Amino acid sequence: MECYCCRSNSGEKRISPGPVIYEGKYWLVEHTYPTALKGWVVIVLKRHAESLHELTNEEFLEFGEICSITSKLINELTGCVKEYCISYSEAEHFNHVHFHIIPRAADLPDELKGSKIFTLLKVSECESVPEQEIIDICKSLKDKFDIYYKSV
Ligand SMILES: [Zn+2]
Repeated sequence: MECYCCRSNSGEKRISPGPVIYEGKYWLVEHTYPTALKGWVVIVLKRHAESLHELTNEEFLEFGEICSITSKLINELTGCVKEYCISYSEAEHFNHVHFHIIPRAADLPDELKGSKIFTLLKVSECESVPEQEIIDICKSLKDKFDIYYKSV
């Protein structure tokens, strides 16, 4: 079955309308699309692997650092009270290791908390945050990643 993560990673058919937010040695940070939540990003493994036990120690180490920076940057962007970090990689065509980093707003209704937040990802393009807004968010997060890596 065709993997949409690999297809997006290679640039053949990108999922995000914006640029890649950050490219590490092993991972890419991308904004999801369509989504009803600004700042809902994914950290996607660059190579195809379907389960966490297949990852190398180096891949996990880099993931930890990218996850830490991503959480802080989406908090800064959205003012969320916490960030969810979720990896199922179960949807059809998405059986490829990726972690969702999701801003959880203070006023998120109870019925959307926890795994139910995925209701906000499964939206149609017309209910989504507009493409141009996502492009702007990607550019802004990309700049913040660059500033972070220049400072360390
Ligand atoms: Zn893949």
